[in-house]
Amino acid sequence: MDSSIKENASKFLNFLNNNPTPYHVVESARQMLSQAGFQELRIAEQWSVRNGGKYFLTKNESTLMAFVVGGKYQSGNGFAVVGAHTDSPALKVKLVSKKSKVGYLQVGVECYGGGIWHTWFDRDLTVAGRVLLKQNDKVVQKLVHIKRPILRIPNLAIHLNRETNEKFSPNKENHLVPILATVVQEQLLRDKKDAKVNPNEESMGQVGKHHSLLIDLIKNELNCSEEEIVDLELVLADTQPAVLGGALEEFIFGGRLDNQVGAYCTIKGLMDSVDMSDIENESIVRMACIYDHEEIGSESAQGAASSFTEHVMRRLNDSQSFELAVARSFMISADQAHAIHPNYSELHEENHRPSINGGIVLKYNGNQRYATNSVSASILRESARMANVKVQDFMVKNDCPCGSTIGPILAAKLGLTTVDIGAPQLSMHSIRECGSTASITQMTNVLSSFFSNFTKIRKVFSNVL
Ligand SMILES: [Zn+2]
Repeated sequence: MDSSIKENASKFLNFLNNNPTPYHVVESARQMLSQAGFQELRIAEQWSVRNGGKYFLTKNESTLMAFVVGGKYQSGNGFAVVGAHTDSPALKVKLVSKKSKVGYLQVGVECYGGGIWHTWFDRDLTVAGRVLLKQNDKVVQKLVHIKRPILRIPNLAIHLNRETNEKFSPNKENHLVPILATVVQEQLLRDKKDAKVNPNEESMGQVGKHHSLLIDLIKNELNCSEEEIVDLELVLADTQPAVLGGALEEFIFGGRLDNQVGAYCTIKGLMDSVDMSDIENESIVRMACIYDHEEIGSESAQGAASSFTEHVMRRLNDSQSFELAVARSFMISADQAHAIHPNYSELHEENHRPSINGGIVLKYNGNQRYATNSVSASILRESARMANVKVQDFMVKNDCPCGSTIGPILAAKLGLTTVDIGAPQLSMHSIRECGSTASITQMTNVLSSFFSNFTKIRKVFSNVL
């Protein structure tokens, strides 16, 4: 394997390991873009964007859009768009999470998205997320990520469930509640402290809804007081870092590959396209969008189904030109794809079996679970050809359910010609998935090629677009 392929994958691993939640993904993207000279805009303020300028903005700190305005851009010229998502299935800490049962302190959790929940058993878990603090009469957001295992969802011993290997279907309300500590140890700790310093029962407001042990960890990390905490949104995460794996390091072992591979490569692809092509001679806007809430259907103020994308695109056109711009635009929806599985190979259609490192997967579904058609597929293949990346075809069997993406949602919402693609992986929605080392380079290169070459490719396809 080319050393640059491993190098690119290692950079992605660093991104992944730092980003246990969509809030962290957006903050990491902000840092990448800021370092590359992109200027942050605020949605509630007037913008003055200039030709040749590079910008980004966020919504709810969990969705981000970055765009580069071509030097020769004029209103109505259109957009080259790539979209991905920042969220992954996870267990989220409940609003009131404090639970105690038979001598254990536990943390109540909510299932977010369609996770393979049994994979969360016996993992060394922690919490991460965002905390709202009131400082100097202003509410500010702080990110938190406790980097040691503080929680665990214990499996039931086989002696108490002899059928565990035949059937194991945990109840999502009763069996997924992680343990934080024992009542005995917590009491010993409390006896040591002055009762007035940290009386769990007397905590007020949001803070009192969670075990003080959990709140103490957050206060220590943020160096804040209990009174400053206005609210918190916490998610459980694995503490085991993602790594390159397999005898030849051709796999990525880690969580949230769906869809931090897409989110990372979308941002990186846009940045690389600025370096590899002449922005002063570009006539369109190149736009990278990473959305929250794909895993639950995208219906939220910051999800792909909201009007947010349209609002941003309208603000980059004069009032006469938005519809014209849409007709001249194109979108790639980048989400993960199912590689052929050696132990369940019968679940893939015989002619559509993407291999784990055989290139980027083109996803098609006539029933529009994916937005791809022959025109959008051909535009994608041309972008991939120019980047020297292989493309593999995927569609599901007729007797098998099909996943979906933000592709059909944005295609329908905006009327954008769209193609669905993805990097191949196994174990999608497990707490620890298995991806492809080479896919980071392949996906980044396909997307940067699309951004750089779309205006040229569009001319070739103008009769069919
Ligand atoms: Zn996904």
